[in-house]
Amino acid sequence: MHDGTENSAIESDQGREAPLAMDAESFRRTGHALVDSIADFLKSLPERPVTPNDSLDAIRALIDGDSALPENGTDSGELLERATRLLFDHSLFNAHPRFMGYVTSSPAPIGMLGDFLAAAVNQNVGAWRLSPVASEIEVQTVRWIAELVGYPRDCGGLLVSGGNMANIVGLLTARVAALGSSVRDTGIGGPNAATLRVYASTETHTWIQKAVDIAGLGTHAIRWIPVDARLRMNVDALRDAITEDQRAGARPIMVAATAGSVSTGAVDPLVEIARVCREAGIWLHVDGAYGGFAAALPTASDDLRALALADSVALDPHKWLYAPLEAGCVLVRHSERLREAFSYHPVYYHFGEEATNFFDFGPQNSRGFRALKVWLSLQQAGRNGYVRMIGDDIQLSRELYEQVDAYEELEAMSQDLSITTFRYVPPNLKAEIDETYLNQLNQELLERLQSSGEAFISNAVIGGRYVLRACIVNFHTGANDIQALPEIVVRHGRAVHEALQSSDVR
Ligand SMILES: *Cc1c(COP(=O)(O)O)cnc(C)c1O
Repeated sequence: MHDGTENSAIESDQGREAPLAMDAESFRRTGHALVDSIADFLKSLPERPVTPNDSLDAIRALIDGDSALPENGTDSGELLERATRLLFDHSLFNAHPRFMGYVTSSPAPIGMLGDFLAAAVNQNVGAWRLSPVASEIEVQTVRWIAELVGYPRDCGGLLVSGGNMANIVGLLTARVAALGSSVRDTGIGGPNAATLRVYASTETHTWIQKAVDIAGLGTHAIRWIPVDARLRMNVDALRDAITEDQRAGARPIMVAATAGSVSTGAVDPLVEIARVCREAGIWLHVDGAYGGFAAALPTASDDLRALALADSVALDPHKWLYAPLEAGCVLVRHSERLREAFSYHPVYYHFGEEATNFFDFGPQNSRGFRALKVWLSLQQAGRNGYVRMIGDDIQLSRELYEQVDAYEELEAMSQDLSITTFRYVPPNLKAEIDETYLNQLNQELLERLQSSGEAFISNAVIGGRYVLRACIVNFHTGANDIQALPEIVVRHGRAVHEALQSSDVR
């Protein structure tokens, strides 16, 4: 009746031979070959283009994208060799010294090896019983992350997939804290339904929309607070909005402030915002996905350090802790708040000394061992190592700003944390700035730069102006890379300007 039974080895004398099994010798051989090629690949990165810039069609053709699922198996060594070649030759490399786009970090090698080890032991860090050492390592990692940024070390927290999830967990926790645990039974439309409000500046990352949507509040619950000239939340406007909403009978759930905005690295006035939240009795959540770890620097501003005053904080180890994707982290001042928001055990089940079952503290049930790679790199570098790497990224960004500022054809726009923004302005346009044309020019320039493979930056829009944005969260980037960037941008900028001038686009 069923195919393949004649090949089944369940009843052989040697025991079962599963199609996915690998004996120790072939695992060793294949694994060593893989490690060797990764070591060569990492070493070769500076000589490679940042991206080969293959077309969508080319990529699909490479993997024969339309082909059917293979009926039969293939040798593991052959498969890994093919996968290695595919990835090494057709990827965009965020470990490249000239990758300065978005907020994606270069991965720490010890993190790569940590993920390998974690997969080998395959712990389910949902329950302590299933992952005793791994669970305690995650507890310790969360505590060390809190210590690093100056947050109370007895806080609760857990690792999640990234900044978005960390922020979403923050909102789901704030929602239960504000409305009481009955909201978990009745939903927000229950008998005590009120108009719910979440406050966030107009510079907030798009996690806020996803979060209010997922939490059932809907995006209309967001009160968008305007920003000042430095793109920081306007605290007077925040205070007014809260007062107005409370008078109208609305229920504030949370203020979402940002420590390091994704566009320009702006840090909201957290000291003042914390005071507003304390006075109004509103949960303060800080999105420190990008900038939070810079609070570890001795030179960090008071506002950045004030993330320690928040009820919850989102951080992203896969950004400034240089963990390979994925690793986000949420910290919550009182760990019971997390349990109240996520656990389905009655509260009287819990005793002070019990082991941590992470499924009680977040949305996931089965959970991978994300903490290992972070735990390893926190120890390899230590606090001082991180302070140096993050400080160097910021220093390089400042140097880039100065370099750009010195260039006749470049207009430096902003510099905050490790983000520098600027744009190309053709010399003959300096006198009479045509903003629409400059936006078009810089947009096309970015396309061209990104596909050139010479360097990779991204963009921001500041006050309606389309600007180029270099964000350095990359311990491979050096002074030579920073010095090379303005020349590359100007060369492509001239070419795009010439092309636009000679076409009839204007
Ligand atoms: C990156 C980022 C996020 C989203 O984090 P992911 O890890 O991409 O999910 C949220 N907020 C800020 C400020 C960020 O920089």
